[in-house]
Amino acid sequence: MYLMKDITRDGNPVLRKRAAEVSFPLSDEDQQLAKEMMKYLEVSQDPELCEKYKLRAGVGLAAPQVGVSKQMAAVLVPSPDEDGEPLFKDVIINPVIVSESVQYGALTEGEGCLSVDKDVPGYVPRHDRITLRYQDVNGKTHKVRLKHYPAIVCQHEIDHLHGVLFYDHINKENPFEAPADTVMIS
Ligand SMILES: [Zn+2]
Repeated sequence: MYLMKDITRDGNPVLRKRAAEVSFPLSDEDQQLAKEMMKYLEVSQDPELCEKYKLRAGVGLAAPQVGVSKQMAAVLVPSPDEDGEPLFKDVIINPVIVSESVQYGALTEGEGCLSVDKDVPGYVPRHDRITLRYQDVNGKTHKVRLKHYPAIVCQHEIDHLHGVLFYDHINKENPFEAPADTVMIS
Protein backbone atom coordinates (compact mmCIF):
# COMPACT_ATOMS: atom_id res chain seq x y z
CA MET A 1 0.00 0.00 0.00
CA TYR A 2 1.24 3.47 -0.80
CA LEU A 3 2.23 5.67 2.10
CA MET A 4 3.14 9.36 2.12
CA LYS A 5 6.81 8.45 1.61
CA ASP A 6 5.84 6.97 -1.78
CA ILE A 7 4.17 10.15 -3.01
CA THR A 8 6.36 12.26 -5.31
CA ARG A 9 6.62 15.86 -4.19
CA ASP A 10 6.76 19.14 -6.08
CA GLY A 11 10.28 19.52 -7.47
CA ASN A 12 10.42 15.93 -8.70
CA PRO A 13 10.69 16.15 -12.51
CA VAL A 14 8.16 13.33 -13.02
CA LEU A 15 5.44 15.79 -11.96
CA ARG A 16 6.33 18.10 -14.85
CA LYS A 17 6.43 15.49 -17.61
CA ARG A 18 3.70 14.60 -20.06
CA ALA A 19 2.72 11.05 -19.13
CA ALA A 20 2.72 8.27 -21.71
CA GLU A 21 -0.46 6.73 -23.08
CA VAL A 22 -1.36 3.35 -21.62
CA SER A 23 -1.97 0.35 -23.90
CA PHE A 24 -4.45 -2.48 -23.42
CA PRO A 25 -4.79 -5.11 -22.17
CA LEU A 26 -3.14 -3.67 -19.06
CA SER A 27 0.07 -5.32 -17.96
CA ASP A 28 0.03 -6.96 -14.52
CA GLU A 29 2.14 -4.05 -13.35
CA ASP A 30 -0.39 -1.47 -14.59
CA GLN A 31 -3.27 -3.39 -13.04
CA GLN A 32 -1.47 -3.42 -9.75
CA LEU A 33 -0.77 0.30 -10.05
CA ALA A 34 -4.47 1.04 -10.68
CA LYS A 35 -5.50 -1.06 -7.71
CA GLU A 36 -2.96 0.46 -5.34
CA MET A 37 -3.80 4.02 -6.31
CA MET A 38 -7.50 3.47 -5.61
CA LYS A 39 -6.60 1.69 -2.39
CA TYR A 40 -4.69 4.77 -1.22
CA LEU A 41 -7.79 6.94 -1.71
CA GLU A 42 -10.08 4.47 0.05
CA VAL A 43 -7.78 4.10 3.03
CA SER A 44 -7.07 7.83 3.22
CA GLN A 45 -10.81 8.59 3.38
CA ASP A 46 -11.27 6.32 6.39
CA PRO A 47 -10.51 8.64 9.33
CA GLU A 48 -9.13 5.86 11.53
CA LEU A 49 -6.89 4.29 8.89
CA CYS A 50 -5.84 7.69 7.62
CA GLU A 51 -4.57 8.51 11.09
CA LYS A 52 -3.03 5.07 11.61
CA TYR A 53 -0.98 5.20 8.40
CA LYS A 54 -0.33 8.93 8.68
CA LEU A 55 -1.82 9.66 5.28
CA ARG A 56 -3.20 12.85 3.85
CA ALA A 57 -6.78 12.33 2.73
CA GLY A 58 -7.22 12.53 -1.02
CA VAL A 59 -9.95 12.34 -3.65
CA GLY A 60 -7.57 11.80 -6.56
CA LEU A 61 -4.16 10.31 -7.20
CA ALA A 62 -2.40 10.30 -10.55
CA ALA A 63 0.31 7.82 -11.56
CA PRO A 64 3.08 10.48 -11.75
CA GLN A 65 2.38 11.12 -8.06
CA VAL A 66 3.69 7.64 -7.32
CA GLY A 67 6.56 8.08 -9.76
CA VAL A 68 5.00 6.42 -12.81
CA SER A 69 4.71 8.60 -15.90
CA LYS A 70 1.61 6.99 -17.39
CA GLN A 71 -1.83 8.40 -18.20
CA MET A 72 -3.69 6.86 -15.32
CA ALA A 73 -5.36 8.38 -12.27
CA ALA A 74 -7.61 7.11 -9.51
CA VAL A 75 -10.55 9.33 -8.60
CA LEU A 76 -12.81 8.77 -5.61
CA VAL A 77 -15.21 11.59 -4.84
CA PRO A 78 -17.34 10.49 -1.88
CA SER A 79 -21.02 11.14 -1.57
CA PRO A 80 -21.93 14.31 0.34
CA ASP A 81 -24.26 12.16 2.49
CA GLU A 82 -22.90 9.52 4.75
CA ASP A 83 -23.10 6.00 3.24
CA GLY A 84 -24.27 7.33 -0.14
CA GLU A 85 -22.79 6.18 -3.44
CA PRO A 86 -19.62 8.04 -4.42
CA LEU A 87 -20.22 10.92 -6.82
CA PHE A 88 -17.46 9.46 -8.96
CA LYS A 89 -15.24 6.45 -8.50
CA ASP A 90 -13.00 4.95 -11.17
CA VAL A 91 -9.46 4.66 -12.40
CA ILE A 92 -9.40 6.88 -15.45
CA ILE A 93 -6.94 5.81 -18.15
CA ASN A 94 -5.95 7.89 -21.19
CA PRO A 95 -8.55 10.49 -20.16
CA VAL A 96 -9.54 13.26 -22.56
CA ILE A 97 -11.88 16.19 -21.94
CA VAL A 98 -14.00 16.15 -25.08
CA SER A 99 -16.08 19.19 -24.24
CA GLU A 100 -16.24 21.77 -21.52
CA SER A 101 -18.50 24.57 -20.36
CA VAL A 102 -17.51 28.16 -21.00
CA GLN A 103 -18.51 28.82 -17.41
CA TYR A 104 -15.80 28.42 -14.82
CA GLY A 105 -16.02 26.70 -11.47
CA ALA A 106 -13.66 27.07 -8.53
CA LEU A 107 -13.46 25.72 -5.02
CA THR A 108 -14.04 28.40 -2.38
CA GLU A 109 -11.26 26.86 -0.29
CA GLY A 110 -8.81 26.69 -3.18
CA GLU A 111 -7.16 23.37 -4.03
CA GLY A 112 -4.62 21.13 -2.37
CA CYS A 113 -2.46 18.34 -3.67
CA LEU A 114 -0.78 15.33 -2.08
CA SER A 115 2.37 16.29 -3.99
CA VAL A 116 2.40 19.89 -2.76
CA ASP A 117 3.23 20.16 0.94
CA LYS A 118 2.70 23.89 1.27
CA ASP A 119 -0.65 25.65 1.17
CA VAL A 120 -1.02 27.77 -1.94
CA PRO A 121 -4.02 30.04 -1.38
CA GLY A 122 -6.11 31.27 -4.29
CA TYR A 123 -8.87 30.28 -6.66
CA VAL A 124 -8.11 27.70 -9.31
CA PRO A 125 -10.52 28.48 -12.14
CA ARG A 126 -11.54 25.40 -14.09
CA HIS A 127 -14.45 24.42 -16.31
CA ASP A 128 -17.59 23.95 -14.24
CA ARG A 129 -18.84 21.12 -16.47
CA ILE A 130 -16.96 18.71 -18.64
CA THR A 131 -17.54 15.68 -20.79
CA LEU A 132 -14.81 13.21 -20.03
CA ARG A 133 -13.80 10.25 -22.13
CA TYR A 134 -11.55 7.61 -20.61
CA GLN A 135 -10.83 3.91 -20.51
CA ASP A 136 -11.29 1.83 -17.39
CA VAL A 137 -8.95 -0.96 -16.26
CA ASN A 138 -10.70 -3.39 -18.62
CA GLY A 139 -10.13 -1.12 -21.60
CA LYS A 140 -13.80 -0.18 -21.82
CA THR A 141 -14.38 3.37 -23.04
CA HIS A 142 -16.62 5.60 -20.94
CA LYS A 143 -18.01 9.01 -21.77
CA VAL A 144 -19.37 10.81 -18.73
CA ARG A 145 -20.68 14.29 -18.00
CA LEU A 146 -19.47 15.76 -14.75
CA LYS A 147 -20.23 19.02 -13.03
CA HIS A 148 -18.95 21.00 -10.07
CA TYR A 149 -16.71 19.13 -7.60
CA PRO A 150 -16.15 15.84 -9.50
CA ALA A 151 -15.43 17.86 -12.67
CA ILE A 152 -12.86 19.93 -10.75
CA VAL A 153 -11.20 16.83 -9.30
CA CYS A 154 -10.90 15.16 -12.71
CA GLN A 155 -9.41 18.31 -14.24
CA HIS A 156 -6.86 18.46 -11.40
CA GLU A 157 -5.90 14.81 -12.03
CA ILE A 158 -5.73 15.18 -15.81
CA ASP A 159 -3.44 18.18 -15.28
CA HIS A 160 -1.05 15.83 -13.46
CA LEU A 161 -0.84 13.72 -16.62
CA HIS A 162 0.21 16.83 -18.54
CA GLY A 163 2.81 18.04 -16.06
CA VAL A 164 0.63 20.81 -14.64
CA LEU A 165 0.10 21.57 -10.93
CA PHE A 166 -2.94 23.37 -9.51
CA TYR A 167 -1.09 26.51 -8.48
CA ASP A 168 -0.06 27.10 -12.10
CA HIS A 169 -3.65 28.29 -12.63
CA ILE A 170 -3.75 30.78 -9.72
CA ASN A 171 -3.66 34.41 -10.73
CA LYS A 172 -0.32 35.61 -9.34
CA GLU A 173 -1.36 39.25 -8.84
CA ASN A 174 -4.88 38.58 -7.55
CA PRO A 175 -5.09 35.02 -6.26
CA PHE A 176 -8.71 35.42 -5.21
CA GLU A 177 -9.94 36.98 -8.40
CA ALA A 178 -12.23 34.85 -10.55
CA PRO A 179 -14.32 35.65 -13.63
CA ALA A 180 -17.69 37.17 -12.64
CA ASP A 181 -19.88 34.18 -13.44
CA THR A 182 -17.61 31.58 -11.84
CA VAL A 183 -19.57 28.92 -9.94
CA MET A 184 -18.10 28.86 -6.45
CA ILE A 185 -18.08 25.33 -5.07
CA SER A 186 -17.76 24.67 -1.38
ZN1 LIG B 1 -2.64 16.83 -7.20
